[in-house]
Amino acid sequence: MLVLYTLLLMGPAAEEARPLTLLNRLSLLRLLAGEEICYDAYIHKAGIWFHVGEATFKVEKRKGPTGGLLLRGIAKGGKFGYHIRMLWESYLDGKTLLPTLSVNTKTGSERRFERYLFQKGEVLYFKKKHCHRPDCKNPAHFVRKTKWFGPIPVGKETVHCPGCKDLRHYIWRLIWRHKVNEPFLDMLSAVYAARTSTFRPGASFIVPVVKSRDRWHVKVTAAKEEKVKVSAGTFDCYKIILEPHNVGDRPNAKPKFSGLFGIQGTISIWVDKVTRVPVRIKGSIPFAFLTLYCDVQLKRATGTPEAFKLAANDILGRAPAAQ
Ligand SMILES: [Zn+2]
Ligand SMILES: [Zn+2]
Repeated sequence: MLVLYTLLLMGPAAEEARPLTLLNRLSLLRLLAGEEICYDAYIHKAGIWFHVGEATFKVEKRKGPTGGLLLRGIAKGGKFGYHIRMLWESYLDGKTLLPTLSVNTKTGSERRFERYLFQKGEVLYFKKKHCHRPDCKNPAHFVRKTKWFGPIPVGKETVHCPGCKDLRHYIWRLIWRHKVNEPFLDMLSAVYAARTSTFRPGASFIVPVVKSRDRWHVKVTAAKEEKVKVSAGTFDCYKIILEPHNVGDRPNAKPKFSGLFGIQGTISIWVDKVTRVPVRIKGSIPFAFLTLYCDVQLKRATGTPEAFKLAANDILGRAPAAQ
């Protein structure tokens, strides 16, 4: 789900559902088309809480004959001379509601461009980087540069740009090929997939997540019931515990990664009992070379249909028919 690291463990043998149990429920996501959820983000610095940004998550129906959904998250904000804009997009297949493509873009004081392509038996992880191909022939990557003979300029020459911030010089590079024999989800679709599950105190389910070069089975447990007050109102919530288990190609990778909002470390998440919308997320966030305590709170949620709310109580997981 959002970020995955916690030391808390559930007590007695919690009931645990395998990834496929969850993935069978993904058709419930069709009900969420039109839903919009907004958050306010705060950070704690020098004893004061500052409002630093907002994030909006939407579910849209994709146009075209194959249908499917587009999940889109936009977060922007900044403070103290640091600013950032993040965009996440996950394209879900019309039949399976599994992701086919996921794109993450971070611009502003930090830049990062990532893409995951989901296809049969593999997930390809790409990053957009400045082109350094020795055999590159793309004229858009070439720049005019002064030619020197010792300290003396002797005219101009056209050379491949050695590196800059001009995105026209950037190309997508395959970074990692994940060989998989079961479906995996990107971070954004994982949050939505988790929302299709039934939450019951003490019960767990597994969300399969691919992130960068690693793959995780994230065990999601509804630990306890709590009331949570945020600007959107007061909600009856489950406090969620996330435990990531490394199932990827790098067994020594640390069991943590930053997720939506870039939150990392040990985090706390509260999910509304009825809509399974995350209501509050607390954790730490890297902010302008510091790691600060952050608090993300639900500001507004609209368009969650009754049918999706009712499905929360549908323990047998009977998904509604596709429309
Ligand atoms: Zn080039
Ligand atoms: Zn360049």
